[in-house]
Amino acid sequence: MSRPISAKIHLKALEHNLARLREAAHGRTLWAVVKANAYGHGLENAVKGFRDADGLALIEVREARRAREMGWKKRILLLEGFFDASDIAELQALDIEPVVHSRWQIELLKKAHLTQLKVHIKVNSGMNRLGFQPAEVEEAARELRSIAGIKVLDAVTHFANAEKAFDAEGPASVARQLERMQPLLDRGEACMANSAAALLHSQVQGNGVRAGIVLYGISPDASISSAELGLIPAMTLTARIIAVREVAAGEAVGYGSRWRAQRPSRIAVVACGYADGYPRAMPDGAPTWVAGGFAPLAGAVSMDMITIDVTDLPQAGVGSDVELWGEHVCVNDLAARCGTIGYELLCAVASRVPVSSD
Ligand SMILES: *Cc1c(COP(=O)(O)O)cnc(C)c1O
Repeated sequence: MSRPISAKIHLKALEHNLARLREAAHGRTLWAVVKANAYGHGLENAVKGFRDADGLALIEVREARRAREMGWKKRILLLEGFFDASDIAELQALDIEPVVHSRWQIELLKKAHLTQLKVHIKVNSGMNRLGFQPAEVEEAARELRSIAGIKVLDAVTHFANAEKAFDAEGPASVARQLERMQPLLDRGEACMANSAAALLHSQVQGNGVRAGIVLYGISPDASISSAELGLIPAMTLTARIIAVREVAAGEAVGYGSRWRAQRPSRIAVVACGYADGYPRAMPDGAPTWVAGGFAPLAGAVSMDMITIDVTDLPQAGVGSDVELWGEHVCVNDLAARCGTIGYELLCAVASRVPVSSD
């Protein structure tokens, strides 16, 4: 028998969220961002659930090849472009569109033997990570166009503060980044919006939307719920209770004796630990959902187990399914409790956790 933990991916939710973003994109090209194994949801599930997207966006050539092998025939955008000259031939063969963010990539393209390669120019509009400065874009485009076989499609940029107010304080508000993109926008050549910009900032236009987190049903801003944005969480991480014990008042549970029983307590042991992707930093009190109610985490997260307090849920017992996150437990809420964001929890679901779909 296999270990009783699994991540279930709801294809209907992926489809629903895609349709929601299609609406928000207002005719712009809709890229489904499927990096990091589709934010932990499995590339294969994403290829099925996002079949109505205009393209997939990801990081590794290997993953792009996998998507092609799964039958994805539409566009594929490589968000950081190629990492090495040896990747270029395959990009061309598989009709994958890399971003070009640095001069060294242009130099490698000059030496490659190209017949047909479509590229996007990455622009640094304020994030200060990848990309050419807005003033350098024209020159980079000219140089790229002078290479036989290359077609320059557009310019892409990424927002540093898309979940904040449009004109929030600081050097890289959405408004400031938009300003720097304006000349490119005027030519209709800019692809800008991530999830937060697509749903929260109607001022952001351009020719494309690159949506990640919202397609998986999770709000890009922990202060707004999925439901408020019309999204449905697509992953339910579930594990089973494998033991239950009575603990006397004053006794402690788990490593470091972090949790102390204030009353005679029923403690359930659940087959999920930090080696499955449940953060070790999770504090006591974090909610799980079991047998129709919330049961709080009680004690430090172990590698392969957590312990929860089911004193008030007598119907919970060995064999009960425990939702770690999904419909009832919001992954953003859990993430906030341990100082991170929902994205990180989803991406960190370990490869030993079987992923299936319904
Ligand atoms: C990851 C990524 C996105 C998607 O971001 P979300 O916040 O998940 O929508 C879009 N564009 C680029 C360049 C990215 O790296």
